[in-house]
Amino acid sequence: LFISFEGIDGSGKSTQARRLHAELLAEGRQAVLTREPGGSPGAEEIRALVLQGEPDRWSAETELLLFTAARRDHLERLIRPALAQGKMVICDRFADSSRMYQGLSRGDLRGKVDALHKLMIGTEPDLTFLIDMDPAAGLARAKARATEEERFEDFGVALQERMRAGYLALAKEFPERFIVIDGNRPQDEVAADIRARLNARCPA
Ligand code: C5P
Repeated sequence: LFISFEGIDGSGKSTQARRLHAELLAEGRQAVLTREPGGSPGAEEIRALVLQGEPDRWSAETELLLFTAARRDHLERLIRPALAQGKMVICDRFADSSRMYQGLSRGDLRGKVDALHKLMIGTEPDLTFLIDMDPAAGLARAKARATEEERFEDFGVALQERMRAGYLALAKEFPERFIVIDGNRPQDEVAADIRARLNARCPA
């Protein structure tokens, strides 16, 4: 089973992905936690190329090519082998992040994102948890923990609002795999909700 977590910056998706992974391991299930951009050694190098250094080093188009290359490596080296061994894969961001960042916020490239995805990736998660979050609260959280090493784009609340709407529209576009989770609640409550929704979909 391939599960991805998506959401705007500061939505808590990484925390929730980590928690779900820990719970599954505690239950004795075989599960791998990974993330994008990155997730395999080569893809992590590409992540550093894009997220460290000058924010305008790459055009949105080049960035899309780099992230697609990273995703392909991640898929070949980590995701597909783990799934083939019967493990669950929990991925913090996947192709939906490209649909949102390269497709909507960094560039208006959705058509190219989809074409490249079809050509080079093809795989979608079985389930995608979208952690839906108040844009202003998410932005405040993301700003508070932004690091020196990695690029953090303060899009401002207006664009964060557009990203939230974009993600909700994506959930409507792929209703068979998206589960929208209200992230404006205490962390434990959000985690319990995710666990319940996963159980309902895929009883152990
Ligand atoms: O999830 P994480 O905070 O590690 O993501 C880091 C940043 O990478 C995001 O804030 C976003 O700016 C960027 N990103 C992107 N395109 C993707 C995935 C992530 O621009 N497909």
